[in-house]
Amino acid sequence: MSELEVNNLVVAFGGVKAINDVSFSVEPGEIYAVIGPNGAGKSTIFNAISRVYTPQFGSIRFQGQELLNCEAHEVVSAGIARTFQNIELFENATVLDNLLVGRASKVRTGALSEFFFTPRVRREEHEHRRKVEDILDLLDMQHHRYEKVADLSYGARKNVELARALCADPKLLLLDEPASGLNPEETADMSFWLKDIKEELGVTIVMVEHDMNLVGRIADRVLAIAGGEVLAVGNVTEVQSNPTVQAAYLGT
Ligand code: ADP
Ligand code: MG
Repeated sequence: MSELEVNNLVVAFGGVKAINDVSFSVEPGEIYAVIGPNGAGKSTIFNAISRVYTPQFGSIRFQGQELLNCEAHEVVSAGIARTFQNIELFENATVLDNLLVGRASKVRTGALSEFFFTPRVRREEHEHRRKVEDILDLLDMQHHRYEKVADLSYGARKNVELARALCADPKLLLLDEPASGLNPEETADMSFWLKDIKEELGVTIVMVEHDMNLVGRIADRVLAIAGGEVLAVGNVTEVQSNPTVQAAYLGT
């Protein structure tokens, strides 16, 4: 079974189809890149999967489960976490607090849990903290833990967003332009981290990305879209040498 299967997806805004009959599938453990010119519909696909937008037609199955019947929070509980094209964090909170919020979907204990501080509650709390620490280690961010997000560099804030998404223990990570605004050194770090996330945590990654260097280095497969329609799917070389893709990018 594919990890993610999108079939005949249509998303329209006021009668204009931003996504027009798009189908693709992502296999477990793959890094799958979605590329395309500005306005192609890349972020709209992510918003449809995470149920921020309601498609007009089609189906989106995650591990066989139809997501179109789910609310946005149920998509997160099902195991899908995401980052945004524009960073969305609690700017005035510390890195650690932002990550603990990212962990909130995993907290099973209720509002009275602090009152009934049972061994089980204590054990769970400990487990959440340890998970957050592991992610801080993985992304080499321990030294930022008590810093306010607003005081961090842009690159570090992008990392916090990635870390927060990981705190939800996702099986599938949707990353909207993870390297945009990063310098070459930060982009190289990002590519290593994404590989680690795939290889060490076994997380499947779908990423929208413009940096073809990064895509070439880490993507197993690439989906090219333009004008809300699929142009090509294949490995990086196949998609880059596809004449339809070249025409869409270069206008030739
Ligand atoms: P990309 O991420 O590939 O640059 P988007 O998915 O953001 O493109 O946008 C695709 C098209 O859908 C654009 O024409 C955009 O204006 C339109 N669109 C996206 N979101 C909305 C919305 N909430 N309301 C109206 N139009 C939208
Ligand atoms: Mg976008």
